[in-house]
Amino acid sequence: MTIAKPLLMIPGPIEVSPAVTAAFSVPPPSHVAPAVIEAFGAGLELMRQLWLAAPASQPFVFAGGGTAAMEMAVANLIEEGDHALVVKTGYFSTRLAEMVRRQGALVVEVEAPVGEAPNPQEVEAALVGLAELGPIKALFATHVDTSTGVRIDPEPLARLARQYGALSVFDGVCATAAEEFRMRDWEADLYLTASQKAIGLPPGLALLVASERALAARDNRRATAPPMVLDWHQWLPIMRAYEERRASYFSTPATNLILALPVSLREILADGPEARFALHRSRAEALRGAWRVLGLEPVARRPELESNALSALRFPEGVDASLVGAIAAEGVIVAGGLHPQIRGEYFRVGHMGYCLTQPAMVRRTVEAVAQGLATAGRSVDAEAAVAALG
Ligand SMILES: *Cc1c(COP(=O)(O)O)cnc(C)c1O
Repeated sequence: MTIAKPLLMIPGPIEVSPAVTAAFSVPPPSHVAPAVIEAFGAGLELMRQLWLAAPASQPFVFAGGGTAAMEMAVANLIEEGDHALVVKTGYFSTRLAEMVRRQGALVVEVEAPVGEAPNPQEVEAALVGLAELGPIKALFATHVDTSTGVRIDPEPLARLARQYGALSVFDGVCATAAEEFRMRDWEADLYLTASQKAIGLPPGLALLVASERALAARDNRRATAPPMVLDWHQWLPIMRAYEERRASYFSTPATNLILALPVSLREILADGPEARFALHRSRAEALRGAWRVLGLEPVARRPELESNALSALRFPEGVDASLVGAIAAEGVIVAGGLHPQIRGEYFRVGHMGYCLTQPAMVRRTVEAVAQGLATAGRSVDAEAAVAALG
């Protein structure tokens, strides 16, 4: 008996397209192989398109995960004695705040209850307070918090940062390529992600785009340089060389993943970034309809906070974390809770990237969740839930 490969529907890693799999499934190429040079250069150019970033902005790609991308941003932008503000919506913004603090900065945190997000007025009030102590170096926020499924609106926060002379840095690890982000129009200074989320590759690449202002902040550091492996001054000549289609070396890139990067970005950008954001919006909306039919309530407390990249869903009455295993038994892998305050009360379904172009995958996911709920003793209408997908 052959067992069908389970469907991976967690908030990263995600299912990747056959063309992406074909691109990385080759014997490891050299970092100076012509195909790698071309893919690296094209990948950097395509990132600027997907990020809707200015021509003078600088994309960086290096071996690492989302946490490494966060650390690169913090290490280059923040130094001892800086003042920074972190907008907190869950698990990953807590991590970000800790990183900024370890850099020796004074950190003010603006927090909201689980499932909520601070509003721009609260953020501005914190900026006003912080500005009394001196210049503010940066505002940090998580675009989509993976532990709650809460999405903030980056635009007013980026605007507030500009107004208060601060850089704005957004963790897009669970959002980039799924949620609308306009780096240039919004004058945001840094947007970062990792390859295994909506970018649609296996784990292993850290990706970020920095604005000219962000690059200047690194140039103008008062004291020590960042650790070499994260330092933009080490990486800038490398990125520029590859974009000019020249080989270069500082630390070996993940060459198989580099080959797959432009393949995935071209699929994502086939009809432009807006079309990709719209695909996530409409499919996530349909999924939310299916969850409602199944009696599942989101962790996010208001509809406008619900991310299009994942659903964080509370266990209904009488159901516990064994639901995740019951869904896996149906061939679909979903994730358990992550936020420390509600860890045992909910589960998470990732729905970003390639799977949204495959209606059968989305349907299989809804059917598996419905069957899992039935196994857990709930009476559910699986057919109606699938019908809600449209
Ligand atoms: C997944 C994720 C991270 C961490 O990425 P790793 O690749 O696991 O280091 C950071 N922030 C957010 C919002 C994420 O979803």
